Amino acid sequence: MKIIVCVKQVPDTSGKVAVNPDGTLNRASMQTIINPDDMNAVEAALSMKDETGCEVVVVTMGPPPAEGMLRELLAMGADRAVLISGREFGGSDTYATSQILAAGIKKIGIDKDDIIFAGRQAIDGDTAQVGPQMAEKLGIPQITYAAEIKKDGDSITVKRMLEDGFMMIKMQTPCLVTCIKELNSPRYMSIGGIMTAYEKPLEIFDYAALKDDPLIDLDTIGLKGSPTNIFKSFTPPQKGAGVMLEGADKNTCAKLANILAEKHVI
Ligand SMILES: Cc1cc2nc3c(=O)[nH]c(=O)nc-3n(C[C@H](O)[C@H](O)[C@H](O)COP(=O)(O)OP(=O)(O)OC[C@H]3O[C@@H](n4cnc5c(N)ncnc54)[C@H](O)[C@@H]3O)c2cc1C
Repeated sequence: MKIIVCVKQVPDTSGKVAVNPDGTLNRASMQTIINPDDMNAVEAALSMKDETGCEVVVVTMGPPPAEGMLRELLAMGADRAVLISGREFGGSDTYATSQILAAGIKKIGIDKDDIIFAGRQAIDGDTAQVGPQMAEKLGIPQITYAAEIKKDGDSITVKRMLEDGFMMIKMQTPCLVTCIKELNSPRYMSIGGIMTAYEKPLEIFDYAALKDDPLIDLDTIGLKGSPTNIFKSFTPPQKGAGVMLEGADKNTCAKLANILAEKHVI
Protein backbone atom coordinates (compact mmCIF):
# COMPACT_ATOMS: atom_id res chain seq x y z
CA MET A 1 0.00 0.00 0.00
CA LYS A 2 1.21 3.52 -0.74
CA ILE A 3 -0.07 7.02 -0.22
CA ILE A 4 0.72 9.69 -2.80
CA VAL A 5 0.47 13.22 -1.40
CA CYS A 6 0.15 16.23 -3.75
CA VAL A 7 1.93 19.19 -2.25
CA LYS A 8 2.08 22.71 -3.62
CA GLN A 9 4.71 25.36 -2.90
CA VAL A 10 2.88 28.67 -2.50
CA PRO A 11 3.94 32.30 -2.03
CA ASP A 12 4.01 33.39 1.61
CA THR A 13 1.12 35.84 1.52
CA SER A 14 1.95 37.18 5.00
CA GLY A 15 4.64 39.23 3.17
CA LYS A 16 4.36 41.61 0.18
CA VAL A 17 2.36 40.19 -2.77
CA ALA A 18 3.76 41.17 -6.20
CA VAL A 19 1.69 40.97 -9.41
CA ASN A 20 3.11 40.93 -12.99
CA PRO A 21 1.68 43.37 -15.59
CA ASP A 22 -0.17 40.41 -17.23
CA GLY A 23 -2.06 39.79 -13.99
CA THR A 24 -0.19 36.62 -12.91
CA LEU A 25 1.61 36.43 -9.55
CA ASN A 26 5.29 37.42 -9.59
CA ARG A 27 6.26 34.22 -7.76
CA ALA A 28 10.03 34.72 -8.24
CA SER A 29 10.04 37.82 -6.01
CA MET A 30 8.22 36.20 -3.08
CA GLN A 31 9.21 33.85 -0.24
CA THR A 32 7.57 30.43 -0.47
CA ILE A 33 5.98 28.08 2.06
CA ILE A 34 4.32 24.65 1.86
CA ASN A 35 0.59 25.11 1.30
CA PRO A 36 -0.98 24.79 4.80
CA ASP A 37 -3.71 22.24 3.92
CA ASP A 38 -1.03 20.10 2.22
CA MET A 39 0.87 19.88 5.53
CA ASN A 40 -2.28 18.27 7.01
CA ALA A 41 -2.39 15.87 4.03
CA VAL A 42 1.27 14.93 4.63
CA GLU A 43 0.62 14.42 8.36
CA ALA A 44 -2.38 12.16 7.59
CA ALA A 45 -0.17 10.07 5.29
CA LEU A 46 2.67 9.85 7.83
CA SER A 47 0.24 8.84 10.63
CA MET A 48 -1.09 6.07 8.38
CA LYS A 49 2.52 5.04 7.69
CA ASP A 50 3.14 4.89 11.48
CA GLU A 51 0.10 2.55 11.80
CA THR A 52 0.47 0.35 8.72
CA GLY A 53 4.07 0.73 7.51
CA CYS A 54 2.84 1.92 4.09
CA GLU A 55 5.00 3.93 1.68
CA VAL A 56 4.54 7.71 1.42
CA VAL A 57 5.37 9.45 -1.87
CA VAL A 58 5.18 13.27 -2.08
CA VAL A 59 4.69 14.90 -5.48
CA THR A 60 4.69 18.49 -6.64
CA MET A 61 4.52 20.31 -9.95
CA GLY A 62 6.68 23.40 -9.82
CA PRO A 63 9.99 25.02 -10.74
CA PRO A 64 13.33 23.30 -9.85
CA PRO A 65 13.74 25.15 -6.47
CA ALA A 66 10.64 23.19 -5.26
CA GLU A 67 13.17 20.42 -4.57
CA GLY A 68 13.95 22.19 -1.26
CA MET A 69 10.32 21.73 -0.14
CA LEU A 70 10.38 18.06 -1.14
CA ARG A 71 13.57 17.52 0.90
CA GLU A 72 11.79 19.03 3.94
CA LEU A 73 8.96 16.52 3.46
CA LEU A 74 11.47 13.65 3.16
CA ALA A 75 12.96 14.91 6.45
CA MET A 76 9.47 14.77 8.00
CA GLY A 77 9.24 11.07 7.10
CA ALA A 78 8.12 10.69 3.45
CA ASP A 79 9.89 7.84 1.64
CA ARG A 80 10.12 9.17 -1.93
CA ALA A 81 9.61 12.46 -3.72
CA VAL A 82 8.70 13.35 -7.30
CA LEU A 83 9.18 16.81 -8.83
CA ILE A 84 7.20 17.41 -12.04
CA SER A 85 8.97 20.25 -13.76
CA GLY A 86 9.38 21.60 -17.27
CA ARG A 87 8.88 24.72 -19.40
CA GLU A 88 6.00 23.00 -21.21
CA PHE A 89 4.07 22.91 -17.91
CA GLY A 90 4.54 26.63 -17.02
CA GLY A 91 1.46 28.88 -17.09
CA SER A 92 -0.95 25.98 -16.49
CA ASP A 93 -4.36 26.76 -14.98
CA THR A 94 -6.17 24.27 -12.70
CA TYR A 95 -7.45 22.18 -15.64
CA ALA A 96 -3.93 21.75 -17.07
CA THR A 97 -2.32 21.37 -13.61
CA SER A 98 -4.62 18.50 -12.66
CA GLN A 99 -4.02 16.89 -16.04
CA ILE A 100 -0.23 16.98 -15.56
CA LEU A 101 -0.40 15.83 -11.91
CA ALA A 102 -2.72 12.94 -12.88
CA ALA A 103 -0.22 11.85 -15.56
CA GLY A 104 2.59 12.04 -12.97
CA ILE A 105 0.55 9.94 -10.51
CA LYS A 106 -0.13 7.35 -13.21
CA LYS A 107 3.63 7.15 -13.85
CA ILE A 108 4.29 6.65 -10.12
CA GLY A 109 1.64 3.89 -10.34
CA ILE A 110 -1.68 3.40 -8.53
CA ASP A 111 -2.38 -0.03 -7.06
CA LYS A 112 -5.63 -1.37 -5.58
CA ASP A 113 -4.81 -0.34 -1.97
CA ASP A 114 -3.41 3.10 -2.74
CA ILE A 115 -4.75 6.46 -1.61
CA ILE A 116 -4.02 9.93 -3.00
CA PHE A 117 -4.13 12.86 -0.61
CA ALA A 118 -4.30 16.53 -1.59
CA GLY A 119 -4.99 19.69 0.35
CA ARG A 120 -8.53 21.05 0.12
CA GLN A 121 -7.33 24.37 -1.28
CA ALA A 122 -4.13 26.25 -2.10
CA ILE A 123 -3.78 29.69 -0.47
CA ASP A 124 -2.70 31.36 -3.72
CA GLY A 125 -4.97 30.05 -6.49
CA ASP A 126 -7.65 29.31 -3.87
CA THR A 127 -9.92 27.34 -6.21
CA ALA A 128 -10.09 23.88 -4.50
CA GLN A 129 -10.43 22.46 -8.03
CA VAL A 130 -7.20 20.48 -8.47
CA GLY A 131 -7.99 17.56 -6.11
CA PRO A 132 -11.45 16.77 -7.57
CA GLN A 133 -10.20 17.32 -11.15
CA MET A 134 -7.34 14.83 -10.59
CA ALA A 135 -9.78 12.19 -9.30
CA GLU A 136 -11.95 12.67 -12.41
CA LYS A 137 -8.95 12.34 -14.71
CA LEU A 138 -7.71 9.24 -12.89
CA GLY A 139 -11.21 7.72 -12.88
CA ILE A 140 -11.20 7.07 -9.11
CA PRO A 141 -13.69 8.03 -6.35
CA GLN A 142 -13.05 11.08 -4.17
CA ILE A 143 -14.07 12.64 -0.87
CA THR A 144 -13.35 16.31 -0.14
CA TYR A 145 -13.05 18.21 3.20
CA ALA A 146 -11.75 15.24 5.24
CA ALA A 147 -11.64 15.95 8.99
CA GLU A 148 -10.91 12.31 9.99
CA ILE A 149 -9.64 9.34 7.95
CA LYS A 150 -9.56 5.66 8.94
CA LYS A 151 -8.16 2.82 6.81
CA ASP A 152 -10.31 -0.28 7.00
CA GLY A 153 -9.18 -3.21 4.78
CA ASP A 154 -9.71 -2.26 1.13
CA SER A 155 -11.76 0.81 2.00
CA ILE A 156 -11.41 4.01 4.03
CA THR A 157 -13.93 5.79 6.22
CA VAL A 158 -13.85 9.57 6.10
CA LYS A 159 -15.56 12.11 8.34
CA ARG A 160 -16.34 14.89 5.89
CA MET A 161 -16.88 18.39 7.24
CA LEU A 162 -20.00 20.29 6.16
CA GLU A 163 -21.00 23.85 7.05
CA ASP A 164 -23.31 22.70 9.85
CA GLY A 165 -22.22 19.15 10.67
CA PHE A 166 -20.36 16.09 9.45
CA MET A 167 -20.98 13.24 7.02
CA MET A 168 -19.44 9.76 7.43
CA ILE A 169 -18.53 8.17 4.07
CA LYS A 170 -16.96 4.82 3.27
CA MET A 171 -15.04 4.58 0.01
CA GLN A 172 -13.16 1.82 -1.84
CA THR A 173 -9.49 2.27 -2.63
CA PRO A 174 -7.83 3.41 -4.83
CA CYS A 175 -9.32 6.83 -4.12
CA LEU A 176 -8.52 10.52 -3.58
CA VAL A 177 -9.15 12.54 -0.41
CA THR A 178 -8.74 16.30 0.08
CA CYS A 179 -7.66 17.31 3.58
CA ILE A 180 -8.48 20.28 5.82
CA LYS A 181 -6.70 21.80 8.83
CA GLU A 182 -9.13 20.21 11.33
CA LEU A 183 -7.69 16.78 10.40
CA ASN A 184 -4.54 16.92 12.55
CA SER A 185 -1.50 18.95 13.69
CA PRO A 186 1.45 18.50 11.33
CA ARG A 187 4.65 17.15 12.89
CA TYR A 188 8.07 18.83 12.66
CA MET A 189 11.10 17.46 10.86
CA SER A 190 13.21 15.25 13.14
CA ILE A 191 17.01 15.56 13.46
CA GLY A 192 17.35 11.97 12.16
CA GLY A 193 14.98 12.82 9.29
CA ILE A 194 17.05 15.87 8.30
CA MET A 195 20.23 13.72 8.29
CA THR A 196 18.69 11.16 5.89
CA ALA A 197 16.59 13.47 3.67
CA TYR A 198 19.34 13.72 1.04
CA GLU A 199 19.80 9.93 0.92
CA LYS A 200 16.16 9.31 -0.07
CA PRO A 201 15.13 9.10 -3.76
CA LEU A 202 13.93 12.27 -5.49
CA GLU A 203 12.86 11.74 -9.10
CA ILE A 204 12.23 14.46 -11.68
CA PHE A 205 9.50 13.96 -14.29
CA ASP A 206 9.96 16.37 -17.19
CA TYR A 207 7.85 16.69 -20.35
CA ALA A 208 9.80 13.87 -22.03
CA ALA A 209 9.05 11.54 -19.10
CA LEU A 210 5.27 12.15 -19.30
CA LYS A 211 4.65 12.91 -22.97
CA ASP A 212 3.43 9.40 -23.87
CA ASP A 213 0.50 9.67 -21.45
CA PRO A 214 -2.72 10.56 -23.33
CA LEU A 215 -3.36 13.32 -20.72
CA ILE A 216 -0.21 15.14 -21.85
CA ASP A 217 -0.93 17.08 -25.01
CA LEU A 218 0.70 20.46 -25.72
CA ASP A 219 -2.77 21.73 -26.70
CA THR A 220 -4.18 21.04 -23.20
CA ILE A 221 -1.24 21.89 -20.90
CA GLY A 222 0.81 25.03 -20.18
CA LEU A 223 -0.38 28.59 -20.83
CA LYS A 224 -1.47 27.83 -24.41
CA GLY A 225 -3.51 24.80 -23.40
CA SER A 226 -5.17 26.42 -20.37
CA PRO A 227 -8.85 27.30 -20.87
CA THR A 228 -8.69 30.03 -18.14
CA ASN A 229 -7.60 33.53 -19.22
CA ILE A 230 -7.00 36.42 -16.84
CA PHE A 231 -8.52 39.38 -18.72
CA LYS A 232 -8.05 41.95 -15.96
CA SER A 233 -6.30 42.10 -12.60
CA PHE A 234 -6.30 45.04 -10.22
CA THR A 235 -5.62 46.03 -6.61
CA PRO A 236 -8.79 47.26 -4.85
CA PRO A 237 -8.56 50.93 -3.73
CA GLN A 238 -7.37 51.38 -0.12
CA LYS A 239 -10.14 52.15 2.38
CA GLY A 240 -9.99 55.59 4.06
CA ALA A 241 -9.01 55.94 7.73
CA GLY A 242 -12.71 56.16 8.81
CA VAL A 243 -14.27 58.41 11.44
CA MET A 244 -14.33 57.43 15.12
CA LEU A 245 -17.22 58.67 17.25
CA GLU A 246 -16.96 58.06 20.98
CA GLY A 247 -19.79 57.98 23.51
CA ALA A 248 -23.40 56.85 23.42
CA ASP A 249 -25.03 60.17 24.23
CA LYS A 250 -27.69 62.00 22.19
CA ASN A 251 -25.15 64.32 20.50
CA THR A 252 -22.94 61.48 19.27
CA CYS A 253 -25.97 59.62 17.95
CA ALA A 254 -27.13 62.73 16.10
CA LYS A 255 -23.63 63.14 14.58
CA LEU A 256 -23.68 59.50 13.45
CA ALA A 257 -27.15 59.94 11.92
CA ASN A 258 -25.93 63.06 10.03
CA ILE A 259 -22.88 61.25 8.63
CA LEU A 260 -24.99 58.28 7.49
CA ALA A 261 -27.58 60.64 5.93
CA GLU A 262 -24.80 62.55 4.06
CA LYS A 263 -23.65 59.24 2.59
CA HIS A 264 -27.26 58.33 1.69
CA VAL A 265 -27.05 55.22 3.90
CA ILE A 266 -30.22 56.32 5.76
C1 LIG B 1 -3.64 31.68 -16.98
C2 LIG B 1 -2.99 31.12 -15.75
C3 LIG B 1 -1.61 30.97 -15.72
C4 LIG B 1 -0.99 30.44 -14.56
N1 LIG B 1 0.35 30.31 -14.55
C5 LIG B 1 0.97 29.75 -13.48
C6 LIG B 1 2.39 29.54 -13.47
O1 LIG B 1 3.09 29.84 -14.43
N2 LIG B 1 2.95 28.99 -12.33
C7 LIG B 1 2.17 28.63 -11.26
O2 LIG B 1 2.71 28.13 -10.26
N3 LIG B 1 0.85 28.83 -11.26
C8 LIG B 1 0.22 29.38 -12.34
N4 LIG B 1 -1.12 29.58 -12.32
C9 LIG B 1 -1.87 29.19 -11.12
C10 LIG B 1 -2.15 27.71 -11.22
O3 LIG B 1 -3.02 27.41 -12.26
C11 LIG B 1 -2.82 27.24 -9.96
O4 LIG B 1 -2.08 27.70 -8.86
C12 LIG B 1 -2.85 25.74 -9.93
O5 LIG B 1 -3.58 25.23 -11.01
C13 LIG B 1 -3.48 25.21 -8.67
O6 LIG B 1 -4.73 25.78 -8.49
P1 LIG B 1 -5.08 26.31 -7.06
O7 LIG B 1 -3.93 27.10 -6.57
O8 LIG B 1 -6.42 26.96 -7.12
O9 LIG B 1 -5.10 24.96 -6.24
P2 LIG B 1 -6.27 24.27 -5.46
O10 LIG B 1 -7.16 23.57 -6.40
O11 LIG B 1 -6.89 25.23 -4.49
O12 LIG B 1 -5.34 23.21 -4.70
C14 LIG B 1 -5.88 22.07 -4.07
C15 LIG B 1 -4.78 21.07 -3.83
O13 LIG B 1 -4.31 20.55 -5.08
C16 LIG B 1 -2.93 20.22 -4.95
N5 LIG B 1 -2.14 21.03 -5.89
C17 LIG B 1 -2.49 22.18 -6.51
N6 LIG B 1 -1.48 22.60 -7.31
C18 LIG B 1 -0.47 21.70 -7.16
C19 LIG B 1 0.83 21.59 -7.69
N7 LIG B 1 1.33 22.48 -8.55
N8 LIG B 1 1.59 20.54 -7.31
C20 LIG B 1 1.12 19.60 -6.45
N9 LIG B 1 -0.11 19.67 -5.89
C21 LIG B 1 -0.89 20.70 -6.26
C22 LIG B 1 -2.53 20.54 -3.52
O14 LIG B 1 -2.68 19.38 -2.75
C23 LIG B 1 -3.54 21.61 -3.13
O15 LIG B 1 -3.75 21.71 -1.74
C24 LIG B 1 -1.77 30.10 -13.43
C25 LIG B 1 -3.17 30.26 -13.48
C26 LIG B 1 -3.76 30.77 -14.63
C27 LIG B 1 -5.26 30.94 -14.64
